[in-house]
Amino acid sequence: DQTQPKKPSWIRVKAPSGAGYARTREIMRENRLTTVCEEAGCPNVGECWSQGHATMMIMGEICTRGCSFCNVRTGRPDTLDLFEPGRVAHAVQKLGLNHVVVTSVDRDDLTDGGADHFAQTIRAIRHRAPGTTIEVLTPDFLKSDTGSLEKVVEARPDVFNHNLETVPGLYPTVRPGARYFHSLRLLQRVKELDPAMFTKSGIMVGLGEDRQGVLQVMDDMRAADVDFLTIGQYLQPTPKHHRVDRFVTPEEFDGYGRAAYGKGFLMVSATPLTRSSYHAGDDFAQLRAA
Ligand code: SF4
Ligand code: SF4
Repeated sequence: DQTQPKKPSWIRVKAPSGAGYARTREIMRENRLTTVCEEAGCPNVGECWSQGHATMMIMGEICTRGCSFCNVRTGRPDTLDLFEPGRVAHAVQKLGLNHVVVTSVDRDDLTDGGADHFAQTIRAIRHRAPGTTIEVLTPDFLKSDTGSLEKVVEARPDVFNHNLETVPGLYPTVRPGARYFHSLRLLQRVKELDPAMFTKSGIMVGLGEDRQGVLQVMDDMRAADVDFLTIGQYLQPTPKHHRVDRFVTPEEFDGYGRAAYGKGFLMVSATPLTRSSYHAGDDFAQLRAA
């Protein structure tokens, strides 16, 4: 795409390789699991997988939404696989993870949006790998029955993550089908349901937002009692996806990080290659030890 700004030197991605990477890949294949790391073409896959960090994507590879930044296919989703929670738990145990992130495609076709499947997966991991902390990164349950969000919270994940993705003004082009204030309210509801649960959210930058807009999103998140924040550079997965408006400099990311801590977030990751699940476990372990 001719209109794209040139990739700067700070966006460097190492090709995945090594024994740790191969082992993680093998365990995922054996258990027939899908990972966001691969589906989203995440730039950190080499680093994360060689350290046994991975983000599992449950409930299939086809999404009922079509966000313009996302590489996951849109269409009629797969039938729910009732054995999947067990296979996820098995893989978590085999990988010996300290912290696992479990996410999913959006399932507007299911009356509970897949909440029960999320809850089953959390319980299965707890049972098989009681020492592993669990982070869920959920869809917005916008079209689900009331009580769906509660089902996930009642299964007691350690961290409840739901990404706002971008500033409200860009929702129609970036995240059609979602509603900014619905997502914000979802995060607040989690905290109301279980004040001891950590909540987390994130946005991408470089989509066309401005600094003031990013600071406003931080304020909105803090008003909803969100604890952890991630901010990373948007990268276009294919020429058909939303264009990159600009590459935010590492200095600007540092500025966002400082502003976020100033606003009271407990944990912030703001770097060009930050992803929602990047180093999630390390940061969380540090916080728990503090
Ligand atoms: Fe996977 Fe997250 Fe690491 Fe990317 S940052 S490779 S999605 S665990
Ligand atoms: Fe991708 Fe999630 Fe949007 Fe589906 S809802 S298109 S998986 S970002």
